[in-house]
Amino acid sequence: SYDECYIRSVIRAVPDWPEPGVMFRDIAPLFQDPKALHCVIDAFSQRYIDADISHIAALDARGFLLGSILSYKLNLPLILIRKKGKLPGDTLTEEYQLEYGSACVEVHTDACKEGDKVLLIDDLIATGGSLLAASTLLRKLGAEITEAAAIIDLPFLHGSSKIQEAGIPVHTLIAY
Ligand code: IMP
Repeated sequence: SYDECYIRSVIRAVPDWPEPGVMFRDIAPLFQDPKALHCVIDAFSQRYIDADISHIAALDARGFLLGSILSYKLNLPLILIRKKGKLPGDTLTEEYQLEYGSACVEVHTDACKEGDKVLLIDDLIATGGSLLAASTLLRKLGAEITEAAAIIDLPFLHGSSKIQEAGIPVHTLIAY
């Protein structure tokens, strides 16, 4: 579609960053172009406006940029999934494996509860580790994950299929 082409046109490919051999997909130019940001937010809000969702959960840090606008547009509470050590209250922590080493995400234990229906959002799905760790946290709090959404999927890393295998539908706007 025209919107998909337009969004694709504002994603910058940065070769060999953050390390040799990696093609980093940079969404910063999308935020420099209000028309592109409108395309992205409109695509997500049209999809979820009438969906059975009680909360949006956004991943630290670029997911916050999208989740914040979307929670405002859909008038839904926003859950912050943060990197370790940022949340002051009672938290749950989930560790997950990276290519080298591991990472941790955290959520406040009062962020959601049994029966809540949560849409997860981030900028990009690579290995799927971040979104899967986030869903584990929210499921431990009793929530149901209705879908995981991102602007970009990198299907060659199989993250979106791993997320779907965990019983979570995935919706992305473009793929590389
Ligand atoms: P995953 O956990 O391996 O799926 O990696 C996804 C997370 O890493 C997201 O929070 C992304 O923001 C970040 N990430 C990984 N690769 C890229 C990239 O090429 N561009 C932008 N963000 C990326």
